[in-house]
Amino acid sequence: MISLGLVGLGKIARDQHLPAIARSADFTLCAVASRNARADGVPAYPDLDALLAREQAVEAVVLCQPPQVRHAAARAAMAAGRHVFLEKPPGATLSEVEDLVEAAGRAGVTLFASWHSRFAAGVEPARSWLAGRRIEGITIEWKEDVRQWHPGQDWIWQPGGLGVFDPGINALSILTRLLPGTIRLEDAELQFPANRQAPIAARLQMRVANGTPVEAEFDWRQTGRQSWNITIHTDAGALLLADGGNSLFVEGAAQALPGESEYPAMYDHFAALIAERRSDVDASPLRLVADAFLIGRRSFTEAFHD
Ligand code: NAP
Repeated sequence: MISLGLVGLGKIARDQHLPAIARSADFTLCAVASRNARADGVPAYPDLDALLAREQAVEAVVLCQPPQVRHAAARAAMAAGRHVFLEKPPGATLSEVEDLVEAAGRAGVTLFASWHSRFAAGVEPARSWLAGRRIEGITIEWKEDVRQWHPGQDWIWQPGGLGVFDPGINALSILTRLLPGTIRLEDAELQFPANRQAPIAARLQMRVANGTPVEAEFDWRQTGRQSWNITIHTDAGALLLADGGNSLFVEGAAQALPGESEYPAMYDHFAALIAERRSDVDASPLRLVADAFLIGRRSFTEAFHD
């Protein structure tokens, strides 16, 4: 068993990481570092430095804080010889992700920059089905209610918090897993609430190296039914990945899939990476988001209040 420390005991840590660690055959939770929260049955520290200093047996840490503060924590953990599992996105900037890759190499530890949506049940079956078929076009619709999924979170609206790209990057992580080769951003429109530093809606036009067009629409103002869909038109019909990748339809027919287990699968992968002394870092979804901030036309919409 690998002794694990968890940092940033917020929504995703409670909803997904703690249950997945409890089920894991490879990891034992030994300590938590969080400024305002503690988990039952394990020592609590106010920050990572205190945890690292006192918990010499901890071999790996999972970082579940907002992206703006994860780089410094990942650096400190790796310099102290610990393996690191990063929540998505892997950083607030591309250059800090590159810096972490170099730091992991220097320290000889595993760095796993996770993309949980890549572990959704339909993604690998979709990838297999698409192999050998000609893809003619892709549309992505990722629309959810920010008040339901990010209640009271301020960091998502701050610089580096990504705004609607915080969920939208999950779609891009699936897209970049399904399609080999470079996907290029051609055009983007971003809508910012008048009182916020991050967009509430975005539209992207991308193109795969072979010319296939990809259109994506992200919106955080959707109430009622939520949409996390990727539709792929091919020479053999349309494939729909729905429910964030956890449902799969081919020409409208539902495909049998195992149940949703994104986080347990990520802990299995992290254990395998540590055993193989490898890292897994792919910044391509974050690069598309960075490009949208670079060339996207900006417009301003009504102020957002929680
Ligand atoms: P969250 O509920 O705000 O939790 C993050 C925790 O990090 C906070 O509770 C806070 O705990 C700690 N923290 C440390 N420094 C902080 C700072 N400067 N500002 C705010 N909090 C700070 O956020 P979350 O929804 O769990 O998201 C965390 C990461 O997981 C994000 O990168 C997000 O994209 C990713 N993620 C979230 C979801 C989801 O459904 N929510 C799903 C997948 C991935 P203390 O105050 O106790 O230190």
